[in-house]
Amino acid sequence: MKKRTFLRTGTILTVGTLVAPLSSCGDTAMDSKKEKAPEKATAATSNFTLPKLSYDVKALEPNIDAQTMEIHHGKHHAGYVRKLNKALEGHTLAGKDLKTIVQSVTDADTGVRNNGGGHFNHSLFWNVMKPGEASLPTGKLADAIKATFGSYDTFKEQFSKAAASRFGSGWAWLSVDKAGKLFVSSTPNQDNPLMGKLVEQSGTPILGLDVWEHAYYLNYQNKRTDYINNFFNVINWEAVAKNYDAV
Ligand code: MN
Repeated sequence: MKKRTFLRTGTILTVGTLVAPLSSCGDTAMDSKKEKAPEKATAATSNFTLPKLSYDVKALEPNIDAQTMEIHHGKHHAGYVRKLNKALEGHTLAGKDLKTIVQSVTDADTGVRNNGGGHFNHSLFWNVMKPGEASLPTGKLADAIKATFGSYDTFKEQFSKAAASRFGSGWAWLSVDKAGKLFVSSTPNQDNPLMGKLVEQSGTPILGLDVWEHAYYLNYQNKRTDYINNFFNVINWEAVAKNYDAV
């Protein structure tokens, strides 16, 4: 009898010990559900949209033709925006602002790197161009260009060289480094100087030139140098100065 009691007790104990962790497992599951619920309710999403051009697609002619602008903005840039939103689904950078996303990308983030860079770079590019007469930098920015490069012409030469010598697809940049100093650089693909983990020289770009073939081939074919020269006719130096002041 004693043995049976012991066994029964033992069984009860066993069941008890089994139930205990099970029930605490249940509690843990409930707790984590409770913790996850608000996270799910405020799930970070990114819904970037294609920014409108502030000028007509024809406005930069003859320097940049309407068809190139139409395809470049309406198809290429739109594609980067669409693919960026897709790449950010379930990504730790979802919900962050575009600059933070671009600054945080790593080598492993191919989709976010290419499309986040694509969206950022093109948004900057449309903004630093304008129709009308060619102009020159003025004020503080003009002083900084002179102090850094010696003259506007030397800056133009360095920037043009960076753009012309970029092998394959990429960008030429005028940026501001951490010390507030201007520098010219070039990056491949859709990388840009904000991608501190990926570029040789990091900084904040204030002027960018797209030298992908899609940016000029319809009008200039293989003459990238002519496209670069004509880009200087449409630079919106007021916008570049605003970017400079905002760094
Ligand atoms: Mn482009």
